[in-house]
Amino acid sequence: MKIDVVPTICPYCGCGCGMNLVAKDGKVVGVEPWKRHPVNEGKLCPKGNFAHEFLHRDDRLTTPLIRKDGKLVPATWDEAISLIASKFKEIKATYGPDAMACFASARVTNEENYIMQKFARVALETANIDHCARLCHGTTVAGLAKSLGSGAMTNSIKDIEEAKCVFIIGSNTFEDHPLIARRVARAKKAGATLIVADPRYNMTAKQADLYVQFRSGTDVALINAMMYVILSEGLEDKEFIKNRTKGFDALKEEVMKCPPEWAEPITGVPADTIREMARIYAKSGASSLIYSMGVTQHSTGTDNVLSMSNLAMLTGNIGKRGAGVNPLRGQNNVQGACDMGALPNVVSGYQAVINPELRAKVCGVWGVKDIPGKVGLTIVEVMNAIDEGKMKSLFIMGENPMVSDPDVNHVEHALKAIDFLVVQDIFLTETAELATVVLPAAAYAEKDGTFTNTERRVQLLRPAIAPPGEAKQDWEIICNIAKAMGVAGFDFKSQEEIFEEVRKTTPQYAGMTYERLSKPEALHWPCPDTSHPGTPILHTAKFSHPDGLGIFFGVPFKYQAERPDAEYPFILTTGRLLFHYHTGSMTRRSATLDDEVKTGFVEINTEDAKALGVKNGDKVKVLSRRGEIEIAAKVTPDIMKGIIFIPFHFAECSANKLTIAALDPFAKMPELKVCSAKVEVIPVE
Ligand code: SF4
Repeated sequence: MKIDVVPTICPYCGCGCGMNLVAKDGKVVGVEPWKRHPVNEGKLCPKGNFAHEFLHRDDRLTTPLIRKDGKLVPATWDEAISLIASKFKEIKATYGPDAMACFASARVTNEENYIMQKFARVALETANIDHCARLCHGTTVAGLAKSLGSGAMTNSIKDIEEAKCVFIIGSNTFEDHPLIARRVARAKKAGATLIVADPRYNMTAKQADLYVQFRSGTDVALINAMMYVILSEGLEDKEFIKNRTKGFDALKEEVMKCPPEWAEPITGVPADTIREMARIYAKSGASSLIYSMGVTQHSTGTDNVLSMSNLAMLTGNIGKRGAGVNPLRGQNNVQGACDMGALPNVVSGYQAVINPELRAKVCGVWGVKDIPGKVGLTIVEVMNAIDEGKMKSLFIMGENPMVSDPDVNHVEHALKAIDFLVVQDIFLTETAELATVVLPAAAYAEKDGTFTNTERRVQLLRPAIAPPGEAKQDWEIICNIAKAMGVAGFDFKSQEEIFEEVRKTTPQYAGMTYERLSKPEALHWPCPDTSHPGTPILHTAKFSHPDGLGIFFGVPFKYQAERPDAEYPFILTTGRLLFHYHTGSMTRRSATLDDEVKTGFVEINTEDAKALGVKNGDKVKVLSRRGEIEIAAKVTPDIMKGIIFIPFHFAECSANKLTIAALDPFAKMPELKVCSAKVEVIPVE
C-alpha cells in the first residue's frame, strides 16, 4: 500500500486555499487542509473538504467521443484529433477565421488558458476567444482598468483583517468565499464595523453591524448618494484627491444631483441609513470595500464598478493597508484566465490587441508575423453570431454554457445549430451532450501548472494521481490539435515549459519561476523580475495609468434593461450556495455536497407568498419573457418584497432559462443579476 500526501490548490472558489490530497494506491481518498498555507491556515470550507469525491466517479470521461448517426460513440485519440484538425482547417478555408471561436476556462490552469488563446490567435487566426469571466467579473476588468489602471483586487486577503470598516456590497462572502469571510470576521472581532448591502438578508448580512437591504440593480444610485453625503459633510480626503487623482469635478457634478432623499425611492433604503453608512465608511481611517457579482452582473456593471472606485478614491481608501477595492473572483482561476489573455481584446498581461507595438512584442516570442488586431466576439455575441449563421465552429474547454449562460433556451438553440462543436471536459456536461466531438480532460488533482487566486497570488498545483483511462491534460490536447493542423509553436513538453513562455510575454509574471512559486506563500503579481518580492497591495504610490493618477468618473444612474411591470411584477436575482459551485458539474457529483442541497428553489418574500397563496415547499412555476421553470418555493422574510432569488447551479430548474442577455455596453457582460419574472401557483391535481 502506498500513501502520498500531495499539497495542491482547491479547485473551487477564487480564495485559492491550499489543501493536501491524500492518495492511496493511485486513488485520492481524502483531503487535509494545508496548515502552512497563507490563505486558509489549515481550514477548508465544505466544498474544499470534499473536493476529492467527484474524481473517481464512474461517469468521468475516459475516451474521446465522436457523434455518429446522432449518437456520441467512443473513438481513438487519432480519430478525434484528425477530425478536429481537418474540420477546423476546412471551416477556416471556407468561411474564414471570423466564423470560428474558442472558449477558454476559469477552471483550468494559467498555462492551459495561455495555450488556448495562443491556439485561437495563431492556429485559427481568429480574434474570437473568451471565457466565463465575461459572465462574472468582465465589468470588474473593464471598470477597474478605466479607473485604477488595473482590473484586479487591490489588496490581499490577509489585509482585510487590518480594516476598521468592511463594506460588503453584492457579495455573499460568508457563503461563497468562506475563507475570505474568516478574515472579515477577524476584522470585526478586532473592532471593525461591518456594513453589508444586499437585497437578501443572507448569511453575510446576518453578520453585519449595519445591514442595508436595497433593490437589485440600484447600486449606482446608492453609492452616488453616499458620495453626496461625504461631499456635503466635507468627509472626502482632499489631499488624496489633489495628489493622486483626476476627474474630480466631473464626479462632483454628477454626485451633487443625488441626495439620499432622491436615492431612497429608487434603492428602497431610508435616506438616514444612507447617511449612516456614508459616515462610517468615510470616517473609519481604513475601509475595505468588498464586492462580487451582485455589482458586476448588470447591463450597468461597468458603471457599478466605476462607482466602487469613485467611493474608495474619494475617501483615500486605496493604496494602503486595510482598505482597497476588492472584487472577489468567483472561480479558482478566473483571475489567471484573464491574466493569460483568454479575452477577445487583450493578449496575456492585458496587452491590447489593437496596439500594434504590443502585438509585435508577443508575435516576436511566438515566431509569427501577426495575430488578429481587432477585438473579437464575447460569449453572448458568439451565441448571437451562431444564430445569424455567421459562426460555424466553437471549441469549448471546461465550460458549461448550457447552465451558466443567460437565456439558456437561446444557448441551446445556438449550440444545436452550429456546424462543428468541440467540448473538452472531465464529465459529459449538459453542453458536452450537444457536441460533435467530446475530448476527455484531466481534473485538477491530475495536473500541475498554476492557478491565480482572487488576490493575484500565483500558486502551483501538484498532481496526486494519473488521469482516468485515456484522459489527457488540457494543454496537451490543444497542442496536439495545433500540431495536427501543421501549426508551429506548440511543441511543449510540460506546463513549466509553457510557463517559461508566459514569463516572456506577460510583464506581471516575468519574475516568477516554478521554483519561486513552490513555497506556500507563492507570489502576488505584478512581479517584474526574479528578485522582486511580488505585490500584495496595488497602487500604494501611484495608480497603474501612464500618468500614475486614478481617474474619477461621474456616473449617472440607469435602471436595468428590464423593469417589473404588470405582467412580470417581480425582480428575479440569481446567485450561489455554500455547498455548490457554478454549474454543479463537480459539486453535484460529490455525494456529501449533493446530500446537503439536492436541487434548486425560489426564495419568495413571506408577504409576496401570502398574496400569491404560496406556502413553503409548494411547487410553483416561475416565468420570464424567455422561458419558464417549475421549482419549489422557499418562503422567507430574508428576501426583499418584490424580489425573488434562484440559485443557478441546477440544470433541471435552471435560473438561466429565465435570465436576460442584455449586455453592458463596455464589457459585454450579460445582466444575469436582474430581470423581470412572475410566479404562478401550480394547482394540485
Ligand atoms: Fe475551496 Fe474556496 Fe472553500 Fe477555500 S473557500 S476551500 S478555495 S471553495
